Amino acid sequence: MSHPLESIVAVQKKDRRLMKLMREIRDIPQRKSDIEAQLAGSAQKLEVALDSKKHTEVTLKEQELEVESLKERITKYKNQQMEATTNDQYRAFVKEIGTVEREITNLEDKEIVLMEALEKGKTIVAECEEKLTGERAGIADELGELDARASELTEMLDQMKADRARSAEQCDKAILQKYVRIMNNKRDFAIVMVEPGGHCGGCHMKLPPQVTNDARNPTKIVACNFCGRIVYNP
Ligand SMILES: [Zn+2]
Repeated sequence: MSHPLESIVAVQKKDRRLMKLMREIRDIPQRKSDIEAQLAGSAQKLEVALDSKKHTEVTLKEQELEVESLKERITKYKNQQMEATTNDQYRAFVKEIGTVEREITNLEDKEIVLMEALEKGKTIVAECEEKLTGERAGIADELGELDARASELTEMLDQMKADRARSAEQCDKAILQKYVRIMNNKRDFAIVMVEPGGHCGGCHMKLPPQVTNDARNPTKIVACNFCGRIVYNP
């Protein structure tokens, strides 16, 4: 007669495939949100680049206005200078105008630095935009593939569950129940082979000789004394 564990080992193989499949299905939403989080990161970088560029533009505009107002002041001083009645007054305007002109030169130097920063900022924004656009397109594809994979796996899961149910019908009900109980507890194997040297194939502890012998006997179902998994010695 064939050993009753043989058909249960076949069920175990199917259960292991089912578990793997269910894990993959379960992980898909996480994979999707990881991908979306990456996109959010790139969008955030673009946001920062735009803010920085905006800030440079505002500062530059402020300095330009400041230069304009200083130039107006010079014009005013020059008009007043022409109306100066004494040499002292005249010289005082020359001095004032010189001070304002130095201020203008100073601001214009800063403007050059700001304009360079603005050019750099524009390049960074363009790069961020390009990256984000590329990622958006790639991500749409990836998300679509994951959705397709999820429905493919779900379909496979239904077929495999039906197949597993058919195999379970071939098994001894009491042993199957025992198997299910252990499998729910251990999550990897409920039935393990006796390894060479008489070790449990689950926890690898040395089994008593009686257990390794009984594991061969089709009329007996024995469990490892250490981990509780059913041991089989075909
Ligand atoms: Zn064991």
